[in-house]
Amino acid sequence: MWQEPIPEELYNEDSKKPHQHCKICAKDLQAGEPYAIQKVFKNYPDQEQAQALFDFAMCQTCLQEARAELSKESRQNVDAFMLKGLQELNENEESPKDRYQSHRCTLSGKNLKEVGEYQLMAVCQGDQILESPICLSDDILEEIQGLLSQESKDELNRFTENNFGWPPELKKALIDGDIVLL
Ligand SMILES: [Zn+2]
Repeated sequence: MWQEPIPEELYNEDSKKPHQHCKICAKDLQAGEPYAIQKVFKNYPDQEQAQALFDFAMCQTCLQEARAELSKESRQNVDAFMLKGLQELNENEESPKDRYQSHRCTLSGKNLKEVGEYQLMAVCQGDQILESPICLSDDILEEIQGLLSQESKDELNRFTENNFGWPPELKKALIDGDIVLL
């Protein structure tokens, strides 16, 4: 458990405050249900600060619904991949928190300033963060995409088509693999 105020880096890009609503069902996120923040950053050679490309928060219920669309096999593959990476980290006597604080990918250890894109994921409740954020560099994200079966990709396609509440840019990002639901 790592309960601290949400770092500003994970604030809503528009409001510059903690996320207030689930991007999918618009539920009030400050009412108590845990939620996940997903944020994708891109580095530009001429800019000091990485720029946020996608930025949204999703309540636990919506996240579970979206994840349930993936085939069991794909989910198991992704979970096993994450677990193995976190175990290796542990064997090196490092933690996701060390990696986050030194601005490195949780699994590859790459400096996030030196990768093309990276994704942050954090579990929060109210204005507190419950665990250290997970940071993934683009090569790791590609590996995770590779673990999803064609069947899962088709299911995600169907899911996003059937759920009108999903913002179009989010559907596209999910199908194109610009974001990975963790
Ligand atoms: Zn929701």
